[in-house]
Amino acid sequence: MSSTILVTGGAGYIGSHTVLELLNQGDQVIVVDNLSNASEEALERVKKITGKHVVFFQADILDKAALSQIFKHNQIDAVIHFAGLKAVGESTQIPLTYYHNNVTGTITLCQVMAEYNVKSLVFSSSATVYGDPQALPLLESMPTGLPTNAYGHSKLMIEEILRDLSESDPSWRIVILRYFNPIGAHESGLIGEDPNGIPNNLMPFITQVAVGRRDTLSIFGNDYNTKDGTGVRDYIHVVDLALGHLKALEKLKTDAGVFTYNLGTGVGYSVLEMANTFAEVSGQPIPHQIVDRRPGDIAACYADASAAKNDLGWTAQFDLKRMCKDSWRWQKNNPNGYKD
Ligand code: NAD
Ligand code: UDP
Repeated sequence: MSSTILVTGGAGYIGSHTVLELLNQGDQVIVVDNLSNASEEALERVKKITGKHVVFFQADILDKAALSQIFKHNQIDAVIHFAGLKAVGESTQIPLTYYHNNVTGTITLCQVMAEYNVKSLVFSSSATVYGDPQALPLLESMPTGLPTNAYGHSKLMIEEILRDLSESDPSWRIVILRYFNPIGAHESGLIGEDPNGIPNNLMPFITQVAVGRRDTLSIFGNDYNTKDGTGVRDYIHVVDLALGHLKALEKLKTDAGVFTYNLGTGVGYSVLEMANTFAEVSGQPIPHQIVDRRPGDIAACYADASAAKNDLGWTAQFDLKRMCKDSWRWQKNNPNGYKD
């Protein structure tokens, strides 16, 4: 049966891919995004790919009156909450902005949801809540450590707030998804990751080197205790991630409470492996140099994703070559992102 899903941050990278999959399965989608880190063009492209309509409100989740109007005039079944600021480095410079946007924004959203008796929520958390892992692969039951930055703290705080909320009112249905490292793009090459300024993350930096926007990839350290000394992460195709949200919504139809799942592949790749695989798949050389470690980085991080498999019936399908191929198609076709 078709549902109406409100997607905060739905014009962003992961949001736009999830909106597309929701439309494909026949759901109605309402997007709320303030476009602070996104372009409405992403939603236009989603409409083009799916041939379906998306209702869009340019609004801030901190604006309670605007959110209330949206809930008042629409029959919403569940919310997927992507809206948030996510630049780790920036969060150390302007922590209050990050806490206000991410934490207060989530509280405001939940207040309005409660007011309109919409109590099904899927929340975007991050593997960063584990801090520096004591053991690998990471299981949901492992301690959430000491995130090294305000962004990570904001995610951990929101997780705790959502658990307290469910404790106070067991009719809430909440899935917390801890994403590992999303990369890739929809196979159409029409939507993808479009960071502002110099990319913080590895894959968009690699694709911008490949397309000629940047000269050289700086690899942050080759003296970690990993297979080749460079950092290891669990990269996951953004379409696999998007499909995880659809499975989470299914879970909420049957179960109340708070459920937390890792969304990763369970496989870790090093920075060098990423650069080499991308070069092989794209045919573009990726010149690189080794530089100092980036402060706050950890050596290795990858998921045990068996809880999502057992409970949600979800596993990642796409391999690293496919992720690189899709990232490259998006960048090649849109060298300047949505500005092209
Ligand atoms: P993104 O920046 O592309 O998307 C976030 C969207 O939220 C943007 O479209 C932005 O304009 C919007 N937004 C931000 N603050 C808002 C506000 N106050 N009101 C309304 N809209 C607002 O980022 P993404 O990569 O798609 O990430 C989505 C979510 O997943 C974020 O919460 C992020 O922290 C989380 N996450 C991302 C990663 C990653 O590596 N991309 C990893 C783990 C978790
Ligand atoms: N990295 C790098 N050069 C870059 C960006 C990232 O060497 O320009 C490394 C980083 O040190 C880490 C991995 O690539 O080992 C993934 O970094 P990213 O910022 O994408 O994700 P996160 O560190 O948040 O997991």
